[in-house]
Amino acid sequence: MRKGKHYLRSVFIAVLLICGWSIQAQEYGQYFADKTLRLDYIFSGDATKQTIALDELTETGDWAGRRHHLSELPLKGNGQITVRDSKTGAIIYRTSFSSLFQEWMQTNEAKKVSRSFQNSFLVPFPLKEAEVDITLLDNRQQVVAELKHTVDPADILIRKTNRFKVSSYNYLLKSGSPQDCIDVAILGEGYTDEESNLLERDAQLAVENLFAHEPFKSLKNRFNVVLVNAPSKESGISTPRLNEWKDTQFNSHFDTFYSQRYLTTNQTKKIHEVLAGIPYEHIIVLANSTVYGGGGIYNAFTLTSSHHSFFGPVVVHEFGHSFGGLADEYFYENDTMTDTYDPKTEPWEQNVTTLVDFSKKWEDMLTKSTPVPTPASMQKDYKVGVFEGAAYSAKGIYRGSADCRMKTNTAPGFCPVCQRALDRLIRFYTEK
Ligand SMILES: [Zn+2]
Repeated sequence: MRKGKHYLRSVFIAVLLICGWSIQAQEYGQYFADKTLRLDYIFSGDATKQTIALDELTETGDWAGRRHHLSELPLKGNGQITVRDSKTGAIIYRTSFSSLFQEWMQTNEAKKVSRSFQNSFLVPFPLKEAEVDITLLDNRQQVVAELKHTVDPADILIRKTNRFKVSSYNYLLKSGSPQDCIDVAILGEGYTDEESNLLERDAQLAVENLFAHEPFKSLKNRFNVVLVNAPSKESGISTPRLNEWKDTQFNSHFDTFYSQRYLTTNQTKKIHEVLAGIPYEHIIVLANSTVYGGGGIYNAFTLTSSHHSFFGPVVVHEFGHSFGGLADEYFYENDTMTDTYDPKTEPWEQNVTTLVDFSKKWEDMLTKSTPVPTPASMQKDYKVGVFEGAAYSAKGIYRGSADCRMKTNTAPGFCPVCQRALDRLIRFYTEK
């Protein structure tokens, strides 16, 4: 009996190894060229109806993303892209994202008017005809908008920018080849050509702060950071409430959705244009401003003001959103569940829970005696618990620790739950 079990297990492991080998060794080269396909879309609509339209297809530099786990999602996200081989229907690449458009849909403006937002995504360039399926999900993780389109790699209208060298760049951290490492591009916004030294200093500070935080600190050798020189005509950042508008590279501004400190841009295509020919996967835009603010959107970008005293913690916090897909852990005392999170749905973000499906979150990190939920009065007793109040809501949604980089600017680092989520994601991107 014991022997039989062992035998079966050996066969199972052997099959796994063989399958694993064939997927890892053949899949990328079987389906993809060593190039990047940039997919530009316009998301448009209002609070009740949303649509996705294809804007442009671009063939750009070498593929800097992962070459393994190709058909797996890194996280669920608020939207997903699935690439299938047209002939067999096999899923050959998947990724996920969030968007400023989906945040805007929850504003009052979205009840009155239809608007459009730019979104660009990178996928490996298919060798044969492929079907791309892009979806947007609501807060119950139901599909609310979908677009399917075919990519014929021989299509003469796929714009080729491979040989374009739009911007000069230099590495602030080079740990290995773009193939093996996670490639982060840092850009300046509102820095003139004469301020390139200032940008370099600020970018160095961003890198120092990021890699002072675990798990980035221990896994630093899995990252490349490239500083890209794309100067703005004017110095400073547009601040609409002060009637200050600047001619900057990406037209970013504070007061996004009339929220003072929300600093974003809708010119994301421009960001990707200046990155043509440079290996990149994740984007940090440093805004030359002393005004407090920033924003980070999962698999889209981090944008944050670089001359505020909280620059260090904020740039890491926003990267927690844009790289890690982490939720905000802060909340407002008197606010209950907003439209952002549905109390009957387990959020996909790894660092918050509605307790609908807590076993998929950090339940395994609790000691047996930890009460669920954990009373606020016990915050000092439990390094990891289930504390009510997170993701803008004081009730019905929970976080793992008293404090965290995703909660305050004064926290010493990411909480254990966020650290594990980031660690898993870094390993997903860099380990077979
Ligand atoms: Zn956390």
